[in-house]
Amino acid sequence: MDGQGFQCQVVSRTTGELYEIHLSRKDGRLTCRCTCPAARNGRLCKHRLSLLDGDLSDVRSPGSPDRETILDLLRGTEVEALIGELREMESRKAAIEAAIRGLKDRLGRQLDG
Ligand SMILES: [Zn+2]
Repeated sequence: MDGQGFQCQVVSRTTGELYEIHLSRKDGRLTCRCTCPAARNGRLCKHRLSLLDGDLSDVRSPGSPDRETILDLLRGTEVEALIGELREMESRKAAIEAAIRGLKDRLGRQLDG
């Protein structure tokens, strides 16, 4: 998949505006740019993260890429590793939040006698 890429349009779920995403892979390095305000300000936008997760529900351009193409472009890149790490941390966060809720429930019951 090296030296390949594509561009597509995605629609904002909040404003309905269309943004352009360019995704390409060269020398094993994946880049993915979006024209939305968040991305232009240097932040990770949900459009890119959704697309890289293989979620095409916001893609609006004809002849848009399929999920397999995106996952092929991602495979073996640093971006794939970082997304994996992010998902792992989010999963641990959810588990910790559930444990905290459980402890608070137990503490509450303990205090009530
Ligand atoms: Zn964006």
